[in-house]
Amino acid sequence: MSGRQDDGRADGGGEQHGTRVLVLNSGSSSVKYQLVEMADESRPAAGVVERIGERGGVADHAQALRTVAERLDAEGLGLDSPRLAAVGHRVVHGGTRFTEPTLITDEVLAEIRALVPLAPLHNPANITGIEVARRLRPDLPQVAVFDTAFHATIPEAAARYAIDAATAERYGIRRYGFHGTSHAYVSQATAALLGRDPADVNVIVLHLGNGASASAVRGGVCVDTSMGLTPLEGLVMGTRSGDVDPGVVFHLARVAGMGTDDIDTLLNKKSGLLGLCGANDMREIGRRMAEGDADARLAFDVYVHRLRRYVGAFTAVLGRVDAVAFTAGVGENSAAVREAAMSGLQGLGITLDSVANAVRAPGARLVSAPSSRVAVAVVPTDEELAIARDTYALARG
Ligand code: AMP
Repeated sequence: MSGRQDDGRADGGGEQHGTRVLVLNSGSSSVKYQLVEMADESRPAAGVVERIGERGGVADHAQALRTVAERLDAEGLGLDSPRLAAVGHRVVHGGTRFTEPTLITDEVLAEIRALVPLAPLHNPANITGIEVARRLRPDLPQVAVFDTAFHATIPEAAARYAIDAATAERYGIRRYGFHGTSHAYVSQATAALLGRDPADVNVIVLHLGNGASASAVRGGVCVDTSMGLTPLEGLVMGTRSGDVDPGVVFHLARVAGMGTDDIDTLLNKKSGLLGLCGANDMREIGRRMAEGDADARLAFDVYVHRLRRYVGAFTAVLGRVDAVAFTAGVGENSAAVREAAMSGLQGLGITLDSVANAVRAPGARLVSAPSSRVAVAVVPTDEELAIARDTYALARG
């Protein structure tokens, strides 16, 4: 990350207004952090504490947060710096309660805690991050930015599952969607790349990282997404199955005698690319395909088939598509996935420029042919920057 550390080490002076936002992203087994200087959106510090609760890692999230604080202190960029304006926290599940970035109070924290049953792996880690940061700097504004929020505009026809309405209502069972910060950022950046007002542009965003999701964004407003009640639904992912017939779960319980937790682990941690071929990293799958490995080939084909299905489905949802945007680890880096996903779609107005697509380059760029009615773009996501912007806007009032 580019640095302005000499600037950071200088004594800020007590009366100075803070212009930096610390972004904390506490995942189930890691804490990622970035310090964002809002004046020029540079990153004076960034890093990750990994393997929380694992051998060789730190004990728990509280310890991980203390490690983050110590690292920042050691660089002269600690939480006590007067340059710090606020802390922004990525919070995975906002339920139906939180549809916008929210200034954290005791009441808000209690409400985030009440949503733990909807995100048992993620929200507790986010909550610990908030608690530790508030303890270290009680005076500082802290903002929660929810992964579900951008999807709150999805109409009922797309958000509801066709199950017993009273049961769904009672247990909050509906499509919430995730990766919302990324879908929002990338859909806007795609409009900017096209030189158009986001309000006039319809985009299918394909966020393809280790987790993966697609969204349909009409004029800047999300109208459908592939993840659902949990991040398990939709696309094939690194270790998650994505869509399966729910009957698979009953079959495993009845015929294989598996328990709920075993099935949860199977579908979330041992499926997807990993389940199909033993590797969840698209780079390794590419290497193995080049050596003629049939399992890797099948995993790639299943991954791409699902992706194309969603592109087709969201084309129908939007009616008119102006752009398809690829983002995150696979979307930004795998020319092979983009090529396979976009091939033969001239009928949908999509024509890839294979030469442009194969070029590795930083920054947002078009990879479609000039004749393509639908633009195909590679747009690097930057969730931390999006969280920092939301946080700073709210903290400054
Ligand atoms: P993310 O969750 O966005 O960090 O994406 C992580 C995933 O991106 C990895 O598991 C890889 O499958 C994929 N990835 C990263 N770099 C590359 C690359 N150069 N080519 C293909 N896939 C990549």
